Order: sequence, then C-alpha cells, then structure tokens
Amino acid sequence: MRAWESNIRKVVPYVPGEQPKGDRLIKLNTNENPYPPAPGVAEALKHMDIDRFRKYPDPTASDLVHALAEYYGVGDDQVFVGVGSDDVIAMSFLTFFNSEKPVLFPDVSYSFYKVWADLFAIPYETPALDANFCIHPEDYYRENGGVIFPNPNAPTGLLLSLEAVEDMIRHNQDVVVIVDEAYIDFGGKSALELIKKYENLLVVQTFSKSRSMAGMRIGFAIGHPDLIKALNDVKYSYNSYTMNMPSLILGTETVKDDVYFKETVQKIIDTREWSKTRLTELGFTFPDSMSNFIFASHNRVSAKELFEALKKQQIYVRYFDQPRLSNYLRISIGTREEMEALFAFLEKYL
Ligand code: PMP
Repeated sequence: MRAWESNIRKVVPYVPGEQPKGDRLIKLNTNENPYPPAPGVAEALKHMDIDRFRKYPDPTASDLVHALAEYYGVGDDQVFVGVGSDDVIAMSFLTFFNSEKPVLFPDVSYSFYKVWADLFAIPYETPALDANFCIHPEDYYRENGGVIFPNPNAPTGLLLSLEAVEDMIRHNQDVVVIVDEAYIDFGGKSALELIKKYENLLVVQTFSKSRSMAGMRIGFAIGHPDLIKALNDVKYSYNSYTMNMPSLILGTETVKDDVYFKETVQKIIDTREWSKTRLTELGFTFPDSMSNFIFASHNRVSAKELFEALKKQQIYVRYFDQPRLSNYLRISIGTREEMEALFAFLEKYL
C-alpha cells in the first residue's frame, strides 16, 4: 500500500439507481415522474438570459424561497432550499444531529440516512419495522439525538397517519424530528400543518418526484425560523451546496403552475391504483403504497429473476440485494402506456 492511501477516508458509498442511456427503454427504477416539467419551465428555458451566467447565483435563493413560502403559506424565513432534498437532508444531519445520543431512523428506509450518519460520524439506531413493514411510533420514544423517517416510507411506499407522525414529534420535543416527505404529494397528508405547533419539526420535500424536476436538483425544508437559520449557517459554510442559477429560475417557474402539478400527480395516482389491481391479478403482493412506486413480491418467481428478465426487455425496475428486500421489486409508476408494456411482458413471462 502506498503511504498516502492510509490517509484516505474509507466509506461504504450509497449506490444510486442506474441511469441507462437510450430512448426506447422503459425506466421505472428511480421514482422519477414520467411526465415533463410544467410547460412554463420550457418557456423560461427558451427565454433564459444566458449572460446572467457570468455572475454567481443569489446565495439566499430569495425568489425560489419566496415562491415556496407563498405556496405553503409560511414566512420566507421558514424555508430552506438545497441541491435536491439529499443536500437538504445532509445539511440537516450536520446541523441538527450533534448529540452523543443516537439518531433514530427505521431499519428499512431511505438508505442514504445510514451513509450520511457514517460519513459524519453520527451514532444511530434503527428500530425495526414490523413483519408488515409498518413503523411503530412507540419504538421512537427511547432516548435519542434526533429522529428522521420518510413518510411515505421508501422503499415500501407505506404511509404513516398524521396522528402517528404527531405522536412521534410530541414524544421527541427535545430533539429535531425530520419528516422526509419526498413522496407525500401522491396521496399523503403532509406534516406541514404541524409546523406552527412544534418548533422542533422540520419537513423536507423535493421537486424530483411530484414536480418532474429530478435533473434540476431542487429540494427544500420548512420549519421554525430558528431551524432554518441554523441550516443556512451550515450551508454557507459549505458554499459548494449553493443552488445553480438555472435551477433557481426553473424551480421558481415550476411552483407557479399548480394546475399542471395537481393534474400530473392525479394521473400518477390513478395509474398506481390501476397498477395495484394488475399486479394482484398477476400474483404479486405488496404493501399498500401511497407513493409513486410499488414494492412488489411475486408468489412464485424470484425478484432477481424478474429484474433480469425485465432488463433484457429494456424495462428497468429496482432490485435491492439486501436482507428483507431481496424478494421485492420496486416499480416506479410510469405512464399508463409504460405500465401496460410492463404488464404485457409479465403476463407472458409468468
Ligand atoms: N428522500 C427519499 C425518501 C428518497 O427516496 C429520495 C430519492 N432518492 C430523496 C429523499 C432524495 O431526492 P432528491 O435528492 O432528488 O430530492
């Protein structure tokens, strides 16, 4: 080993979903939105003043922050934006989880939490989901240095009721509780309405799923002004996390078109519900997803075999080679036509 190698930080990295290239494939593996961004985004892009790129972007992201504050009915000082919700959550780990006590998150959940905890040397414990993949709020009553969980959960798609979410916040008022609502727009009830009541609550959302803007990397958090100020102080200390100018402009444009947003979300919900029926007919079982994906297991054929067979057809779904997950495929909800193509193949194959 060369001497300098011993100084290199060793990490077990997060493994992102594949981004295969090509036009003819059906991509149902990373929970992107199958519909294009709001029409105003294309218009804004066409008329973008390229000369502005000479300058640095607004470090306070004030236009996007203001658009989000208006949309969600909170003050500008209650909104924090970042380079995707991954960035927002990473900043939150650095800002809020500095106790010697362990941060709590579910054992089956968004796998980045463990990666960040390890990277930032934050101790953690992972209360187990029950046999039906459900979160039990009582498991989060123990002493801890912070709590984070996705609602709906990933990769199961299961939604916790707002009462259960509030229960978890109420029992953890000495620490910051982060509700990661990446998939909340697909039929869940957001914890945003609890912000007024709980100063220790941070709700994180993203433009990557319901708002069709994964490629632009836009995420945000809403909470008490003191939480938002703390996040900004940390963010300004890592200047590389500042959002780029096109994302700021196009993100602000996205928030303006609520009609398009609601229409596309409803189309995805309708396709999801229809897909549940088709999956059941084909012999799959799955937790009852309230997100834009279904976590499904077949009663006869292994998930690995199906994953490989689908890939040969250029249909990409997500397979997790991990304990408890390896019998399941996580299938993102595409357009109705994409889902029909998936089911037509499965019908022949199974
Ligand atoms: N939270 C959860 C639960 C997710 O599944 C994802 C998407 N991989 C994210 C956060 C991050 O999304 P983004 O960084 O694109 O906003």
